[in-house]
Amino acid sequence: MPYRAPAADYQFLLDHIVGFDEVAATERFAEATPDMVSAILDEAAKMSNEVLAPLNRNGDLHPAKLENGVVRTSPGFADGYKAIAEGGWIGMAASPEYGGMGLPFSIQNAVNEMMGGSCLALQLNPLMSQGQIEALEHHASDAIKDLYLPKLISGEWCGTMNLTEPQAGSDVGALKSKAEDNGDGTYAISGQKIYISWADNDFSENVCHLVLARLPDGVPGTKGISLFMVPKLIPDENGKPGVANSLKVVSLEHKMGLHGSPTAVMQYDGATGWLVGKPHGGMAAMFTMMNNARVGVGGQGIAVAEAAYQHALAYAQERKQGKAAEGETILGHADVRRMLAQMKADVFVARAIAAACAAAIDMQTATGAPEWTARAALLTPIAKAFGTDTGIEVAQQGIQVHGGMGFIEETGAAQYLRDVRVTAIYEGTNGIQAMDLVARKMMDGGEAAYALIDEIEAYAESCKATMPELAGPVFTAAETLRETTEWLVEQEMNDRFAGAVSYLRMFARVLGGYYHLCAANAAGLDSARGRLATIYIQRLLPEHGSLADQARQGADDLYALSEEDLVA
Ligand SMILES: Cc1cc2nc3c(=O)[nH]c(=O)nc-3n(C[C@H](O)[C@H](O)[C@H](O)COP(=O)(O)OP(=O)(O)OC[C@H]3O[C@@H](n4cnc5c(N)ncnc54)[C@H](O)[C@@H]3O)c2cc1C
Repeated sequence: MPYRAPAADYQFLLDHIVGFDEVAATERFAEATPDMVSAILDEAAKMSNEVLAPLNRNGDLHPAKLENGVVRTSPGFADGYKAIAEGGWIGMAASPEYGGMGLPFSIQNAVNEMMGGSCLALQLNPLMSQGQIEALEHHASDAIKDLYLPKLISGEWCGTMNLTEPQAGSDVGALKSKAEDNGDGTYAISGQKIYISWADNDFSENVCHLVLARLPDGVPGTKGISLFMVPKLIPDENGKPGVANSLKVVSLEHKMGLHGSPTAVMQYDGATGWLVGKPHGGMAAMFTMMNNARVGVGGQGIAVAEAAYQHALAYAQERKQGKAAEGETILGHADVRRMLAQMKADVFVARAIAAACAAAIDMQTATGAPEWTARAALLTPIAKAFGTDTGIEVAQQGIQVHGGMGFIEETGAAQYLRDVRVTAIYEGTNGIQAMDLVARKMMDGGEAAYALIDEIEAYAESCKATMPELAGPVFTAAETLRETTEWLVEQEMNDRFAGAVSYLRMFARVLGGYYHLCAANAAGLDSARGRLATIYIQRLLPEHGSLADQARQGADDLYALSEEDLVA
């Protein structure tokens, strides 16, 4: 069955679950009328289904190649990219001043998921450009904005992000790349970066690298890092791509999946760069890009989960094996029905969390109110980690639904798992996301978390009369989350870290209960959404209890097991 982009699910989320009407009611996003939003979702779905989805297998079977220092992309990717650029999908949320559409991030988030579900490897390219556009809008000088933003927004030029070095992965502050002032407004950038996504291609006029490097007076660690724009071709006086910069793609990594996305080792040898933001302010500028990208990468997980679910469902509707309790195919077996139901229920949760996070980002943009900033900050690591974990879990369940055929590459089920696996690693590993949640996002003593828990409890309370069997467990789970949060904020940092991944997942589980309850309330208990909510609340929500126990273990038992014990 061909991929069908989930436009209707987004419409439902925006209309009933995440308060998008509040976003559209702001002056900033007044143009995002219901008609316009629904037309955009439909148009994006059409392009994803018809243009991008047919390219997905090409990327896997015919990976990007490095030939004579130039990257050759997978067959059809150039046309796919052209469709994305010409449709205006790269600059959806970018400023109209530079050619963007100025749409809410909520819409970009929805469209990005659809493009990712159809062809993840290609979608990573515009995702990187979008992050770069946002970083430049916030931090670059007017001269850089005027030169680069229109080209990045139109898609004529692509953007990348260069943080990682062999000794500096999660610990970005350990980077060694250097920047020296040329005395003419430019800097000479030298160093090696690894794992750079879409470091080059054969379909855009230029590739613009945002590179983190240290100025001679930069202190060690993250506080001494600056951000530079380092284009592949240096723009001439007319802003056209001119002479080649002193940088090169050294090699492409051989990856487990995502073969259509060229991931490169990059060498900079005194390459000409321009400072973005303040000297030593690189991490702050990069964080703008990373926050956007974190929600985007969470969306990549959801995208693949949706595609893998659809693929598995279609197989289960065809495959006959054994005598099922209902119907003639394996879909009639209780265990297969369980797998598909849980996959669908979790895709909904991950998507609802991402959509709620995107709406909070929009409210923050539109109102500047600190409570929206706090809500967006709280939800970002959850959206990233739960979205990508769901991608992996649903893709692996999808293989299970296929039985032996899931292990055979021709069915395509395995590609989803191979492609999505990295999403839990890049853009800050999911472990790092969880640590962010229990550390930086709890610097308010848990205030933002309690505000959300209050909201969940009030909603559950309001549904207790009409849907007691769903509302009751959601209320109780929210109370357990509150108690766990209260315990957590009192602990030493390493004890928090030891339970961070469990706590993040528990938070997602409780949010899942909340959003499923909202869905059942909006659509009715006796509807597909109501029945799915019942399954989630009965079968998946209870996991929050054991996660709470794990989150409250502290770190002592982990260190009691010594390195020697692990080796023994
Ligand atoms: C396909 C692909 C594309 C990528 N694209 C880009 C890109 O475009 N630009 C870019 O700059 N980078 C990119 N990356 C790099 C990616 O962001 C890093 O791989 C990631 O940040 C993890 O760093 P690392 O690989 O060095 O792992 P490490 O940092 O060595 O981590 C190893 C393990 O240790 C854990 N760990 C590390 N530090 C801590 C800590 N303080 N506390 C607890 N646990 C910790 C991690 O969670 C992980 O489980 C890409 C990577 C891949 C594989």
